[in-house]
Amino acid sequence: MNSRRDFLQKLGVSALALHLAPVSGWANSKNNNDVAYDGPVLRVAIMGLGGYGTRVAEAMQSCTKAKLVGVISGTPSKIKDWQSKYGIPEKNCYNYENFENIKNNPDIDAVYVITPNALHHDHVLRVAKTGKHVICEKPMSVNAKQGQEMVDACKKANVKLLVGYRMHFEPKTLEVIRMRKAGEFGKILFFQGQCGFKIGDPTQWRLNKQLSGGGSIMDIGIYAINGSRYMTGEDPVWVTAVETKTDPVKFKEGVDETVQFEFGFPSGAVASCLSTYNMSNLDRFFLNGEKGFAEMLPSTGYGPIKGRTNKGELTQPVTVHQTVQMDEMAGIILEGKQPVVPVDGNEAVKDLKIIDAIYLAAKTGKKTEINY
Ligand code: NAD
Repeated sequence: MNSRRDFLQKLGVSALALHLAPVSGWANSKNNNDVAYDGPVLRVAIMGLGGYGTRVAEAMQSCTKAKLVGVISGTPSKIKDWQSKYGIPEKNCYNYENFENIKNNPDIDAVYVITPNALHHDHVLRVAKTGKHVICEKPMSVNAKQGQEMVDACKKANVKLLVGYRMHFEPKTLEVIRMRKAGEFGKILFFQGQCGFKIGDPTQWRLNKQLSGGGSIMDIGIYAINGSRYMTGEDPVWVTAVETKTDPVKFKEGVDETVQFEFGFPSGAVASCLSTYNMSNLDRFFLNGEKGFAEMLPSTGYGPIKGRTNKGELTQPVTVHQTVQMDEMAGIILEGKQPVVPVDGNEAVKDLKIIDAIYLAAKTGKKTEINY
């Protein structure tokens, strides 16, 4: 994030933080319209206290309907830090060996899995067995087979499985979706998604297939994949893909550096996307229809998201994505709210089927069908 984005992000957090956070079980705080919130609160334990877990924890301090109450970590010093920073009691702290005991803890409703991609499958299956709801980061797993197993396990355990698709709650994104649904762009013809950043440290887990499950596609290209679906309102039925590798030492076998891929949708619309770990400033969506267009630039970073359509600038408010996501997910889990765009495990399995097909198409050089 650049410094201006950083500043605005902090400003957003502190402005929202003026509202009191709920204390336990049922809230007595105010929501953003200063109307007393007196409903249920989702009490969440975060698993994986790394970079993104820390961002979510900070953002949750401004939530009305969700509260951080527990942690799961393999690093005792991090647990101590989080306990003192967020007032987390000892009885809500777990490690990777004993977190199954969470099933006996009546003060935790859900676990948010924010560990490296290839660990999500095992972590989610183990959480589901405890009877707690699960929120899992993207990509939900590293292939569709694993993803389906996670959906089935959560269904069997009668717990909800949601995935951290924070853009599904972002106001400018939702406005473009509203306009598209209202027919304001006419028949959709084309989507372009360009997502990437220049990755640093060659020793990080994102470049280790055992932990990442792949390369840029798993990490950042998934935004173009998922975005192509919510921007067009369709799921792609075929894909072609080409992988380019300029540094085979840093990007080993199975870790893609840059992939260009094209989709075809049932309506005849097409998409052209780029996913990369080797270019900066790549965060753009473009949607073209017979009557109009939408451009989001940036489209999926932490914000502020900016965009325009053929009707002018998008002026919806800037939000802290993770604060809104967690409040909305509390509503989905506790009150059965329906999001505009799904954030459940089935939504993630579709993305994983597409990812499987992209990798297959890149390997074979063939146009590959996607079946849901
Ligand atoms: P990170 O490296 O900063 O943190 C990962 C955490 O997992 C660390 O605390 C690490 O100690 C822990 N961990 C547990 N077991 C581990 C093991 N065996 N090996 C390595 N680490 C282990 O990574 P991150 O950026 O926080 O990413 C975590 C997840 O969150 C990924 O799935 C990533 O795709 C996702 N993420 C999502 C967003 C978003 O905007 N939705 C942004 C960043 C990351």
